[in-house]
Amino acid sequence: MTHSPGHEHCQTFRFVAWQWCIDTAEELIRADGEAAATFHPQGILTSLDQFLPLEPARPGFLRLIEIEIDHDYAMTRTELVKPILVAPIEPEKGDNGVIVIDGWHRVYRARKEGREYLPFYLLTPYAEQKSRVPVWIR
Ligand SMILES: [Zn+2]
Repeated sequence: MTHSPGHEHCQTFRFVAWQWCIDTAEELIRADGEAAATFHPQGILTSLDQFLPLEPARPGFLRLIEIEIDHDYAMTRTELVKPILVAPIEPEKGDNGVIVIDGWHRVYRARKEGREYLPFYLLTPYAEQKSRVPVWIR
């Protein structure tokens, strides 16, 4: 599981102890289709609100994880028709957890505009593992 040469400038997403190469994930979806990801036209977004700075945190309430969002970028430069990318977390361990690895600005914009759904790709375990990058590389 190495991050390929030629990937020095690719986009990555890090979440706690995991990191993924978004470029690799997108290449796999283009090249391998359904072997790399399943397409879902309507992913429900409301469970993601807890990770986004949509509202100020309640007094005395600490957000453990908050995704950094550039508000102006999100509201003017994103295209909500582009599917977000969702990855299973350590599927080899039989865990059922998933995490958005690309498209947080689209999720933020959609929620700000009152939308509850966006299209997404769910990576297969194969594509998730091919896209996963050791955290210490960058
Ligand atoms: Zn890469």
